[in-house]
Amino acid sequence: MNNYDVIVVGAGNGGLCAAATCAKAGLSVLVLEKHNIPGGCATSFVRGRFEFEPSLHELCADSTHPKMRSMVHIYRELGVKTDFLKEDYLYRVICKGKDGYDHKIKATRQGFIDSMDEAAPGCRRQMETLFELNDLFDAAQIYMDDCGGVTGMNPITLLTKYGDFVRAAGNSTDKLLSALGLSEKAKSLTNTYWGYLGNPPRDLNAMHFISLLMAYAQAQPYVPKNRSHGMTLAMVKVIQENGGEIRFNSEVTEFLYDEKGAATGVVVNGENIYARKIISNIIPNNVMNLSKSRFTKKMMRKLANARKMGMSVGCVYLGLNATAKQLGIEDYSVFVLQDKDANVQYDLRKSYGFYIVNCLNVVLPDCSPRGTSMLFFTITYFDGDFPEDMKPEEYKKYKNDLAKKYIEDYEKVMGIDIMSHIEEISVATPVTFARYLSTPNGTIYGYMSQTWDNVVNRVVFKDLENRVKNMKFCGGHSLRGDGYPSAFITGEMMAKEVIKEIKEGK
Ligand SMILES: Cc1cc2nc3c(=O)[nH]c(=O)nc-3n(C[C@H](O)[C@H](O)[C@H](O)COP(=O)(O)OP(=O)(O)OC[C@H]3O[C@@H](n4cnc5c(N)ncnc54)[C@H](O)[C@@H]3O)c2cc1C
Repeated sequence: MNNYDVIVVGAGNGGLCAAATCAKAGLSVLVLEKHNIPGGCATSFVRGRFEFEPSLHELCADSTHPKMRSMVHIYRELGVKTDFLKEDYLYRVICKGKDGYDHKIKATRQGFIDSMDEAAPGCRRQMETLFELNDLFDAAQIYMDDCGGVTGMNPITLLTKYGDFVRAAGNSTDKLLSALGLSEKAKSLTNTYWGYLGNPPRDLNAMHFISLLMAYAQAQPYVPKNRSHGMTLAMVKVIQENGGEIRFNSEVTEFLYDEKGAATGVVVNGENIYARKIISNIIPNNVMNLSKSRFTKKMMRKLANARKMGMSVGCVYLGLNATAKQLGIEDYSVFVLQDKDANVQYDLRKSYGFYIVNCLNVVLPDCSPRGTSMLFFTITYFDGDFPEDMKPEEYKKYKNDLAKKYIEDYEKVMGIDIMSHIEEISVATPVTFARYLSTPNGTIYGYMSQTWDNVVNRVVFKDLENRVKNMKFCGGHSLRGDGYPSAFITGEMMAKEVIKEIKEGK
């Protein structure tokens, strides 16, 4: 068959969710994936006797209001069967240096407020205010949805009833936290998750950040019992059970258009395949490079060139011949900061990045063979941080040095021995992600969420994102920014638009 209702290019979280939604609605769907397994970032790899989780730390899976769309809603409605655990702690955060600190911050609304107030005495009222603000953000977004988007909204109502939403949506996290009068320490602790969105707080949209933090805190971080690969396989099952088709080892090498610039199909393994609608789970920059239509290229180039590439990461995956308990590791998620000011952390990142260390055995004791454990280091890289002039023969040393530097730092910070327990080690850099995901500069977060190009603006002006007729974009590079839930939400959103257009014969 070479003619479908919908072709989805890329089997990452966004693409799979889009395909499952379309298949469930009865459309004929083909997913094309360049690798031999699905998932994109949500995948798995094996070294020796260890199977590693390559990407997922934790999921911001549930919303803070029943009417706000979340991954939990999507999974339930699609019938994706996979089990999750909820974490009791958001993070242990260790800040090095003068005025350093070491605190564990609890999940749940009350747990977060209590542990923040314990760590930075006097911030209780301000933490309560953050939750109240988030309640208002939810209400404002529900109002906007109920109005059917910007065009149906009454600006006066928005300003009078939801004024703080408008202010937060147009300001940085730094400005919001300062306006609330947070102490330096309370600010530092509140900012811990800034790297999850890939912007220092001075450039990080306040509404986006507070919504994420409050959702993690209130609804608790989720960890899948069968890891991200299990989530992916469960989604693939839904697609196939509903008649959808997935082809692996199928890299799309060209996008096809008619003479008016409307998308008509793709070329894969030398074959032309056509569809009424294309949903791209691959970043617009790549679609542009794989498109010959001058009209399309021009439209996409404008937006792509205006945007900045999002963050990438370096990762060190360790298989250890001792249990977490034997090593003295008690926490699932440890954030190590080099400076208490998150903007300074960002500025210093090339000499010492801030990093996160996860030990999956703390939440899933059986995730590695008996008597062993696994550690997963994530180190932030921003666009341009990876040395551009590196020669291939220098790469191995670069990876070894990266791993050594952060393992030694972690050993020192925690006062434990890791080096002598390493049985398996694998190191990923932005080069790894560029190769595996085919993203420019190895971005794992799509485009950087900047002040002018933040999630709120992208959602409000969403029609400008999908200007090529019959083509839509979903995934971490799309409207909602990076992350598993955002990829699922945009996958579902684009699928619903496509279903509607097909039903209406558009
Ligand atoms: C180390 C790391 C840690 C992370 N931690 C978290 C976390 O804790 N929580 C969280 O929510 N998010 C996290 N993320 C981010 C999250 O994984 C991503 O934002 C999200 O999974 C991106 O999904 P996506 O739909 O954009 O697809 P991607 O994962 O980008 O997948 C795109 C797919 O398209 C395929 N493809 C590319 N080009 C072609 C082509 N030409 N033809 C066919 N197929 C093609 C690729 O092979 C890939 O399978 C992390 C990411 C990484 C890398």
